[in-house]
Amino acid sequence: MDAGVLTSPRDLENLQRELASLAKRQSDLEDVVLEVMERRENAQERATEFTGRVESLEAKVAEAEQRKSSVLEGLDAQGFTIAKERETLAAGIPGDLLKLYDKLRSQQGGIGAARLYQKRCEGCRLELNITELNEVRAAPSNTVVRCENCRRILVRTSDSGL
Ligand SMILES: [Zn+2]
Repeated sequence: MDAGVLTSPRDLENLQRELASLAKRQSDLEDVVLEVMERRENAQERATEFTGRVESLEAKVAEAEQRKSSVLEGLDAQGFTIAKERETLAAGIPGDLLKLYDKLRSQQGGIGAARLYQKRCEGCRLELNITELNEVRAAPSNTVVRCENCRRILVRTSDSGL
Protein backbone atom coordinates (compact mmCIF):
# COMPACT_ATOMS: atom_id res chain seq x y z
CA MET A 1 0.00 0.00 0.00
CA ASP A 2 2.82 2.27 0.96
CA ALA A 3 4.58 1.60 -2.31
CA GLY A 4 1.42 2.54 -4.08
CA VAL A 5 1.11 -0.87 -5.76
CA LEU A 6 -2.12 -1.70 -4.07
CA THR A 7 -4.69 0.83 -4.77
CA SER A 8 -7.64 -0.44 -2.85
CA PRO A 9 -8.50 -2.41 0.31
CA ARG A 10 -10.01 -5.02 -1.98
CA ASP A 11 -6.60 -5.57 -3.66
CA LEU A 12 -5.09 -6.05 -0.22
CA GLU A 13 -7.78 -8.52 0.71
CA ASN A 14 -7.23 -10.48 -2.51
CA LEU A 15 -3.51 -10.52 -1.94
CA GLN A 16 -3.91 -11.74 1.62
CA ARG A 17 -6.28 -14.47 0.47
CA GLU A 18 -3.81 -15.52 -2.20
CA LEU A 19 -0.97 -15.60 0.33
CA ALA A 20 -3.02 -17.76 2.69
CA SER A 21 -3.88 -20.11 -0.16
CA LEU A 22 -0.20 -20.35 -1.19
CA ALA A 23 0.81 -21.05 2.42
CA LYS A 24 -1.75 -23.84 2.58
CA ARG A 25 -0.55 -25.24 -0.73
CA GLN A 26 3.07 -25.11 0.50
CA SER A 27 2.14 -26.95 3.68
CA ASP A 28 0.27 -29.60 1.66
CA LEU A 29 3.26 -30.05 -0.62
CA GLU A 30 5.57 -30.40 2.37
CA ASP A 31 3.31 -33.14 3.69
CA VAL A 32 3.50 -34.90 0.33
CA VAL A 33 7.30 -34.60 0.29
CA LEU A 34 7.49 -36.07 3.81
CA GLU A 35 5.26 -38.95 2.82
CA VAL A 36 7.31 -39.66 -0.30
CA MET A 37 10.52 -39.60 1.74
CA GLU A 38 9.00 -41.98 4.26
CA ARG A 39 7.91 -44.34 1.50
CA ARG A 40 11.34 -44.19 -0.07
CA GLU A 41 12.92 -45.06 3.27
CA ASN A 42 10.56 -48.03 3.66
CA ALA A 43 11.30 -49.19 0.13
CA GLN A 44 15.03 -48.98 0.80
CA GLU A 45 14.63 -50.97 4.01
CA ARG A 46 12.70 -53.67 2.16
CA ALA A 47 15.24 -53.72 -0.65
CA THR A 48 18.02 -54.19 1.91
CA GLU A 49 16.04 -56.97 3.57
CA PHE A 50 15.38 -58.73 0.26
CA THR A 51 19.00 -58.40 -0.77
CA GLY A 52 19.96 -60.01 2.52
CA ARG A 53 17.52 -62.84 1.96
CA VAL A 54 18.72 -63.41 -1.59
CA GLU A 55 22.32 -63.50 -0.37
CA SER A 56 21.47 -65.98 2.36
CA LEU A 57 19.58 -68.21 -0.11
CA GLU A 58 22.45 -68.05 -2.56
CA ALA A 59 24.80 -69.11 0.22
CA LYS A 60 22.51 -72.03 1.07
CA VAL A 61 22.32 -73.10 -2.58
CA ALA A 62 26.11 -72.96 -2.86
CA GLU A 63 26.43 -75.00 0.34
CA ALA A 64 23.92 -77.61 -0.91
CA GLU A 65 25.75 -77.86 -4.24
CA GLN A 66 29.00 -78.34 -2.38
CA ARG A 67 27.46 -81.14 -0.32
CA LYS A 68 25.90 -82.72 -3.39
CA SER A 69 29.18 -82.83 -5.24
CA SER A 70 31.01 -84.27 -2.25
CA VAL A 71 28.29 -86.96 -1.86
CA LEU A 72 28.57 -87.76 -5.58
CA GLU A 73 32.33 -88.01 -5.28
CA GLY A 74 31.87 -90.39 -2.36
CA LEU A 75 29.39 -92.49 -4.33
CA ASP A 76 31.75 -92.64 -7.30
CA ALA A 77 34.55 -93.85 -5.06
CA GLN A 78 32.21 -96.36 -3.41
CA GLY A 79 30.98 -97.60 -6.78
CA PHE A 80 34.54 -98.03 -7.93
CA THR A 81 35.45 -100.00 -4.79
CA ILE A 82 32.36 -102.20 -5.10
CA ALA A 83 33.07 -102.87 -8.78
CA LYS A 84 36.63 -103.87 -7.85
CA GLU A 85 35.39 -106.15 -5.07
CA ARG A 86 32.86 -107.77 -7.38
CA GLU A 87 35.55 -108.36 -9.97
CA THR A 88 37.76 -110.06 -7.38
CA LEU A 89 34.87 -112.20 -6.10
CA ALA A 90 33.66 -113.07 -9.58
CA ALA A 91 37.15 -114.32 -10.50
CA GLY A 92 36.73 -117.08 -7.89
CA ILE A 93 33.32 -118.24 -9.13
CA PRO A 94 32.88 -120.85 -11.90
CA GLY A 95 31.91 -119.31 -15.22
CA ASP A 96 28.63 -121.25 -15.60
CA LEU A 97 27.43 -120.26 -12.16
CA LEU A 98 28.36 -116.63 -12.71
CA LYS A 99 26.51 -116.65 -16.02
CA LEU A 100 23.41 -118.14 -14.37
CA TYR A 101 23.63 -115.62 -11.55
CA ASP A 102 23.93 -112.67 -13.93
CA LYS A 103 20.99 -113.94 -15.99
CA LEU A 104 18.80 -114.36 -12.90
CA ARG A 105 19.91 -111.02 -11.55
CA SER A 106 18.76 -109.22 -14.68
CA GLN A 107 15.46 -111.16 -14.70
CA GLN A 108 14.75 -110.78 -10.97
CA GLY A 109 15.14 -107.07 -10.37
CA GLY A 110 18.82 -107.10 -9.48
CA ILE A 111 18.79 -110.07 -7.06
CA GLY A 112 20.05 -113.31 -8.57
CA ALA A 113 20.70 -115.23 -5.36
CA ALA A 114 18.90 -115.27 -2.02
CA ARG A 115 19.58 -116.68 1.39
CA LEU A 116 17.48 -119.64 2.50
CA TYR A 117 16.59 -118.47 5.98
CA GLN A 118 14.44 -120.55 8.32
CA LYS A 119 12.91 -122.51 5.43
CA ARG A 120 12.07 -119.30 3.59
CA CYS A 121 13.55 -117.96 0.35
CA GLU A 122 14.59 -114.38 1.10
CA GLY A 123 14.25 -113.51 -2.57
CA CYS A 124 10.51 -114.10 -2.92
CA ARG A 125 9.73 -114.51 0.82
CA LEU A 126 7.95 -117.81 0.27
CA GLU A 127 8.44 -120.75 2.57
CA LEU A 128 9.65 -123.93 0.91
CA ASN A 129 7.38 -126.98 1.28
CA ILE A 130 8.50 -130.30 2.78
CA THR A 131 9.37 -131.84 -0.58
CA GLU A 132 11.45 -128.84 -1.64
CA LEU A 133 13.19 -128.74 1.71
CA ASN A 134 14.00 -132.45 1.44
CA GLU A 135 15.48 -131.91 -2.00
CA VAL A 136 17.60 -129.03 -0.80
CA ARG A 137 18.64 -131.05 2.25
CA ALA A 138 19.65 -134.00 0.03
CA ALA A 139 21.61 -131.89 -2.43
CA PRO A 140 25.38 -131.97 -1.94
CA SER A 141 26.77 -128.72 -0.57
CA ASN A 142 28.66 -127.97 -3.80
CA THR A 143 25.54 -128.14 -6.01
CA VAL A 144 23.52 -125.11 -6.96
CA VAL A 145 19.99 -125.23 -5.56
CA ARG A 146 17.27 -122.90 -6.69
CA CYS A 147 13.98 -121.63 -5.37
CA GLU A 148 11.06 -123.44 -7.06
CA ASN A 149 9.01 -120.27 -6.90
CA CYS A 150 11.29 -117.42 -8.05
CA ARG A 151 14.11 -119.58 -9.54
CA ARG A 152 16.80 -117.62 -7.71
CA ILE A 153 19.90 -119.41 -6.51
CA LEU A 154 19.39 -120.39 -2.88
CA VAL A 155 22.28 -119.79 -0.51
CA ARG A 156 22.31 -122.34 2.31
CA THR A 157 23.56 -121.33 5.75
CA SER A 158 23.35 -122.81 9.25
CA ASP A 159 20.14 -120.75 9.70
CA SER A 160 18.44 -122.28 6.67
CA GLY A 161 16.24 -124.53 8.82
CA LEU A 162 17.31 -127.71 7.03
ZN1 LIG B 1 12.24 -117.61 -4.05
